[in-house]
Amino acid sequence: MTHASGTLYIVSAPSGAGKTSLVKALLDQVEQLHVSVSHTTRPIRPGEVDGVNYHFTDRTSFLQRVGSGDFLEHAEVFGNLYGTSQSTVEQTLLQGHDLILEIDWQGAQQVRKAMPQAKSIFILPPSRDALRDRLTNRGQDDLQVIEKRMAQAVDEISHYVEYDFLVINDEFHIALDDLKAIMRNGRLSQPLQQRRYQALLSALLSD
Ligand code: 5GP
Repeated sequence: MTHASGTLYIVSAPSGAGKTSLVKALLDQVEQLHVSVSHTTRPIRPGEVDGVNYHFTDRTSFLQRVGSGDFLEHAEVFGNLYGTSQSTVEQTLLQGHDLILEIDWQGAQQVRKAMPQAKSIFILPPSRDALRDRLTNRGQDDLQVIEKRMAQAVDEISHYVEYDFLVINDEFHIALDDLKAIMRNGRLSQPLQQRRYQALLSALLSD
């Protein structure tokens, strides 16, 4: 991949950890930050918009894209296929914008291999009980469904060690601050600051 100036962030979490709300708040508050819209074969849910939450597609078209090498990563999650468009990632980063990929641990492993400079963040719920509460869905699901979701969540959490950062979503505003701190830290790195402050550096170093 060509040299990009934006930073790529991978954000993973078990469902019920509050990842989507945190990313939404981040996008509202941090400038020049984007989120990648994935392709998926999962059926659209009420309230979701095609092209906004996901690009909804069928299995055949998805697999055609896989064959054409369109995806930076792709994986099967809970029986549905999900993938991240390689060209969108490249273009966003080349424009100097930071980009978040909300993907699972399998996708995270593929992106780390392809783009080792990506920073990865894992969001955790504050307790098992909190996770169970958030997965219970206001009493609409039977115990079996909830136990299945719990097992899936624990499976996702078992990959936490592969990530650069861990954020605990107990109090929303603290978790949001933590995420902002990670991004701010990235933007202050010497190579990025050097590019941004070339004129200042030359002035400071001139005789
Ligand atoms: P949901 O269908 O509930 O929106 O997402 C289910 C899971 O799929 C979540 O863990 C989410 O992070 C993951 N996911 C969403 N988009 C992608 C993607 O493009 N690639 C991969 N590998 N996982 C994704």
